[in-house]
Amino acid sequence: MKTSIIEKADRVIAKTYSRFPVVMEKGLGCKLWDINGKEYTDFVAGIAVCNLGHCHPAVTEAICDQAARLLHVSNLYYTLPQVELAELLVENSFADRVFFGNSGAEANEAAIKLARKVFQDKGESRRYRIISMEKSFHGRTMATLSATGQEKIRKGFDPVLQGFDFVPFNDIQALENALNDSICAVMMEPIQGEGGIRCPDPEYLAAVRKLCDDKGILLIFDEIQTGMGRTGKLFAYEHYNMTPDIMTLAKALANGLPMGAMLAKESVAEAFGPGAHASTFGGTPIVASAAVAVMKAIQSDKILENCRAMSAYLTEKLLALKEKHPVVVDVRGKGLLLGMKLNREGGDMVKACMERGFLINCVQGDILRFIPPLTVTEKDIDGLVACLDQVLALG
Ligand SMILES: *Cc1c(COP(=O)(O)O)cnc(C)c1O
Repeated sequence: MKTSIIEKADRVIAKTYSRFPVVMEKGLGCKLWDINGKEYTDFVAGIAVCNLGHCHPAVTEAICDQAARLLHVSNLYYTLPQVELAELLVENSFADRVFFGNSGAEANEAAIKLARKVFQDKGESRRYRIISMEKSFHGRTMATLSATGQEKIRKGFDPVLQGFDFVPFNDIQALENALNDSICAVMMEPIQGEGGIRCPDPEYLAAVRKLCDDKGILLIFDEIQTGMGRTGKLFAYEHYNMTPDIMTLAKALANGLPMGAMLAKESVAEAFGPGAHASTFGGTPIVASAAVAVMKAIQSDKILENCRAMSAYLTEKLLALKEKHPVVVDVRGKGLLLGMKLNREGGDMVKACMERGFLINCVQGDILRFIPPLTVTEKDIDGLVACLDQVLALG
């Protein structure tokens, strides 16, 4: 049965993903089951999407209740879940206003459009360029792949959207040198996810903030992967004693329903007036109600506390594995966005873990990434670490 499903899929679905030959059927908390009933402990969580675990009861209940009440109306009208969610996001961040979309790429599209519009409204139409970081990832739409500092993602799609310059991440001098009067914004992930779990030096982001202030330009944080508690705080910028002007969210915002959001300070958000931007499904009731449940669960269920405690626990175990296995050259990350750099490609290790019932993935070829639900337990971690110990011993 499994083979026939995979054969069918490979006949009719676009070939954009290289998938593992399993068909996932059911999830609960940190566990997943495939159609053969094989159980997996999930250290991928839909790529940092299911931060509360699979089928979190409060999220499932919110979706079911809302599904029976109202799925969708146009943004021509107000709806309760959207307002409640926007209030929760504003109360718990630097931002004053929220624009809702359906994905990370769309949230970043909104941020790029807003940054340009802020300066065009001021009559500074020559100030439209955005500085982005090498090894960044901002999405796959034309504008967001143009903002992405990875050749392999832009390849084949020239000409990309004009107006993006790239500098090395965590290099304040390079950023300073790149700033000129055509720049409207700096756009970056506070911690690079797809780029290889790269954390900046503690003082770097505050220095970026200061440079932006000195030059009067905007700072956009892509917190699509780092947001919603992933790093042990609700948003990663909270670790760094500074705030951006614009922040984008998606992935874990609705714990698995598709949702993106762009948050901004009032002075910036005011450039988006009626008609400036829109999305048919943005903030639609069914999705917004799930995200409200997510925000409430993060606030009331000790999610951040568990994330920090399990981060310390897993980091310590990964460092012990590094001591034992010479194939491991670095352990890094923050919260439950952790990576283990190898001295060789890691694809076969991902497969070997999967055979043993643990899901992990690999970024940049040689970095194993661990991004479990933030509800992960010591027992789940002990299981993963025993599995890694075997797999890393393969050399
Ligand atoms: C996943 C991701 C995106 C893209 O999100 P989509 O929902 O796939 O469009 C953008 N930025 C970062 C940092 C991401 O991790």
